[in-house]
Amino acid sequence: MKKMTKTTLLSGLALSLASTASMAKELSPEEQAAKSEVWEPVPAMVETAPGKAPSDAVVLFDGTDLSAFESLKGGEAKWTVEDGTLTVKPGTGDIVSKQSFCSVQLHAEWKTPEDVEGLESQQRNNSGIFLQQRYEVQVLDSYNNKTYPNGQAGSIYKQAIPLVNPVNPPGEWQSYDIIFNAPEFDGDELVKPGYLTVLINGVLVQNHTEILGKTEWIGGPSYEAHGCAPIQLQDHSNPVSFRNIWVREIGQNTLTDFR
Ligand code: MG
Repeated sequence: MKKMTKTTLLSGLALSLASTASMAKELSPEEQAAKSEVWEPVPAMVETAPGKAPSDAVVLFDGTDLSAFESLKGGEAKWTVEDGTLTVKPGTGDIVSKQSFCSVQLHAEWKTPEDVEGLESQQRNNSGIFLQQRYEVQVLDSYNNKTYPNGQAGSIYKQAIPLVNPVNPPGEWQSYDIIFNAPEFDGDELVKPGYLTVLINGVLVQNHTEILGKTEWIGGPSYEAHGCAPIQLQDHSNPVSFRNIWVREIGQNTLTDFR
């Protein structure tokens, strides 16, 4: 009786395996391939055109006015808008976007003055783009201008030297494309540092570089918990110009689940 039971069980198992195998066999390659097709969510359409912000971008400066910004000191942003260009008005202070952002893709074009007579190192037309008002991607005339490399254009100021130096001569426009993944906090605790990927004129200079903390001029950086915050542009007492500034908030990719 015992032997019968074992035999019966084994035959049952064999039958079941055979049936599974035959079912798998019945699926055509197309049907098997379809099992790893994911049809949702469908990515939203975004319209693009050369020199224009993508249709889903938040435009911070399109050449017309400074309505998306205010002064860090309070009140209206006082930088100069002329011929589609925004230029730092030295002494008026940094400007900050009215809107706060978390992780973003940011595009901005910038230009430093052609006349560099008597200017060198960090004084040669310095500005900066601060993500979340804390993490500076340096803006500086870095064309034949010796300075500490962790403070040249494309650096995360005082934290990370750019991979290469693709800047154009002063007086020419440069483009920044920045992908910023904001740091994450649980209460006061840092659970994930921020990261920056930066391209200058289409050339990679920061490749998912870990941000070490808030930008400091003196001493090492550290993190202090915060939420989403504005984009801040630096008045470093030099008439650096900007145009075509826009940001896109970054979503989360859907990964295929193979479990
Ligand atoms: Mg700066």
